[in-house]
Amino acid sequence: MGRIGGLLGLSPNGFVLLLGLAFILVPRATHAWSKEGHIMTCQIAQALLEPEAKEAVQNLLPSRVNGDLSALCTWPDQIRHWYKYRWTSPLHFIDTPDNECTFDYSRDCRDQRGVEDMCVAGAIKNFTSQLLHYQDGTSDRQYNLTEALLFLSHFMGDIHQPMHCGFTSDLGGNTVALRWFKRKSNLHHVWDSDIIREAAKQFYDKDMDLLQEDIVANYTHGVWSDDISSYASESINIACKWGYKDVEADDTLGDDYFNSRMPIVMKRIAQGGVRLAMILNRVFADNEEEMATPT
Ligand SMILES: [Zn+2]
Repeated sequence: MGRIGGLLGLSPNGFVLLLGLAFILVPRATHAWSKEGHIMTCQIAQALLEPEAKEAVQNLLPSRVNGDLSALCTWPDQIRHWYKYRWTSPLHFIDTPDNECTFDYSRDCRDQRGVEDMCVAGAIKNFTSQLLHYQDGTSDRQYNLTEALLFLSHFMGDIHQPMHCGFTSDLGGNTVALRWFKRKSNLHHVWDSDIIREAAKQFYDKDMDLLQEDIVANYTHGVWSDDISSYASESINIACKWGYKDVEADDTLGDDYFNSRMPIVMKRIAQGGVRLAMILNRVFADNEEEMATPT
């Protein structure tokens, strides 16, 4: 768990170069749960914060965003290829073994070099632990807690996007080229963006606020697990049952795929938001004993 934080402190030139090389050899699409998906996840979460967490989040956000967490929820995607942050690039996803349809933390939560905890589930655990230091006060802080908040908020979105836990050989569906209605796309991008944008277009007159209201009204009920590994297990499960199912490269996906998958995307955005709020409410609760160690 400490290794991600540890990497922050080091400046291992060789390591960064190697990672860079991996990028050239195996280019991973830059797409991530679309801007809209992340913004909704963060807005849903922020609306559910209890007073202590609400105040802590306000304190950690830069003043220029006027207390709006969602304004910076896509920041980790914007900086992931910057030299300083290149080490965060493997933290946006998990590659699971082809056709296994399961997630096993010790088997799968590694980067391409095999470094442990370098995946989205590891990142969520690590940045959650960093945020617990908020209670220690402002002096002697070894972590940048503003960045920790932004990374946690972003990665809670990513881990709920089923194809972010997809198969290794197709890079989570990135190399499954197909058509989305008439446009060229790929399976990863369909789940990141195309389904959300199609829903906005077909049902909400492109008004994302209306779409989000519907998500909150219809999908935020229910008691959900707060076990981080289970978020990833859910995702690879959905990826197999609904993402990869009946899809082959060069297919054209249209109404059938859209109509059957859209409710799943809506639910995952809701779950990401509700669970992010659960984590933040516990991390920033006055009584530290309320914070169970995430497993
Ligand atoms: Zn991401």
